Amino acid sequence: VNHRVFIQVAGPPLAFGLILLGACLAGAWYINQLQRNLARVLTHNVANLQAAQELEISVRQLRFHTFLYALDPRLARREAIDADQENFERTLQRAKESAQSREQVASLDAIDAGYHQYHHDLAQLLTARSSADALAGLRNLEDSHPIRHVVDPCHELLRNNELKMEEISTQSERLGQHALVAMLALGLGGPLGGLILGYGIARGLSRSIYQLSVRVQDMAQRLDQDVASVRITASGDIQHVDKQLEYVVKRVEEVAERLQSQQREMLRAEQLSAVGQLAASVAHEIRNPLTGVKLLVEAAMRSPNGRPLVAEDFQVIHRELARLERTVQGLLDFAKLPAPNRIACDIRGLITEAVDLVRARADQQQVAIKVRSPEEPVGVMVDCDQFRTVFVNLFLNALDALPDGGSLEIDVQVSAHEDVRIAVSDSGAGIPPAIADRLFTPFASTKPSGTGLGLSLSRRIIEEHGGRITAANRAGGGASFIIQLPSRCEAVGTMS
Ligand code: ADP
Repeated sequence: VNHRVFIQVAGPPLAFGLILLGACLAGAWYINQLQRNLARVLTHNVANLQAAQELEISVRQLRFHTFLYALDPRLARREAIDADQENFERTLQRAKESAQSREQVASLDAIDAGYHQYHHDLAQLLTARSSADALAGLRNLEDSHPIRHVVDPCHELLRNNELKMEEISTQSERLGQHALVAMLALGLGGPLGGLILGYGIARGLSRSIYQLSVRVQDMAQRLDQDVASVRITASGDIQHVDKQLEYVVKRVEEVAERLQSQQREMLRAEQLSAVGQLAASVAHEIRNPLTGVKLLVEAAMRSPNGRPLVAEDFQVIHRELARLERTVQGLLDFAKLPAPNRIACDIRGLITEAVDLVRARADQQQVAIKVRSPEEPVGVMVDCDQFRTVFVNLFLNALDALPDGGSLEIDVQVSAHEDVRIAVSDSGAGIPPAIADRLFTPFASTKPSGTGLGLSLSRRIIEEHGGRITAANRAGGGASFIIQLPSRCEAVGTMS
């Protein structure tokens, strides 16, 4: 599955699920934390409650034993008082340790203070000299102290604890309700959110499929122009679109096949037309000199006194026949161009050989030839004979364009991509506009004795070597022919 589509479709539900999971975990953790707090507070409060009750019981016991001792001051009864005191102090200590709130601490402090007062008074009475005084004091003490100073704060502590317990229970109830609401919200929100998200995604997908379907429909309508009866309707159903695409692909194949066959037919027509044009050009080229010769011969035959052909006539006939021969030879060269016999050679050497062949004529016309080429060999894989012919053709054309002297420049360059570029430029009149657009077609010539086959033959040779030739007039006057050859190679030999 495409990653982007997967993220688009699965991303939102995944994110929503993760949010829900996070909310659930946070809720569970929070509830757990609260419960633990409640349990702790509850444990303390219960312990406090117990301690308050125990304190009250032990102070009542103390009071009882003190009363008994006052009635009958025996050692055994005194020991019971001591045991009660010890028990009370232990319970008070425990209660202090488990005290939580300020009120509890205050109540316990009050109990402690009351107890100390009682303890102090009791100790004094127990050590009194006169037993009558002690007895009276003990009765007094029994009536006043324990109840007033210890039992009352004990009741206070009990009340406090009960209130606290009630508060905790209310808080716990409230929390329970909150947790219930949160769970309900999550329980309802999850499916509801999933439903909304699912609906949104399904809608988005359906819209995309619909758009795709519309495009397919549009494509099919365009095809209708070429292939009849392509009927397609837009819909949001992916299977339907799939079938539609299959259908359109079949139609496209049909159109492609039809176009290919049309292209083949066109190519054939073009070839036939080229052959026709060539035949017409050949006929034209041959008919002109033939007509000249025929007219002269007919004139001689028709002459009443049987005028023989004079030397001038023979010259004309000879010239026209030579022209015919050149045309036929050119045609033969053009038609019978052998397959190139490529070997690695230095293009600079080929250029030098071609320059040497035209040097005498250049000197005669006072044309300066300048060759600029790299210092190192420029190796190319070419048929040396054919390329020499190309260069000679170009140089002779340049010389034809420079009857009154001038310059012929040859530039050889190797590009960064190792392609070889050869520019042959002259300072002549430039390419005549009348011929510029058909310069490389056979028989295109502006020269009286030209065949118009030189450039078309050169182009054919260059193209068969995978290169190309272009021509342009130079800004400062003259023509420039540029040959581009594919990548250079190691030069093996420069001469053939
Ligand atoms: P031909 O030389 O027999 O005419 P080409 O195919 O070699 O045939 O040349 C075709 C025509 O291109 C020439 O007749 C001429 O008009 C034009 N041409 C070729 N080279 C040059 C040049 N260097 N400067 C001007 N015109 C040129």
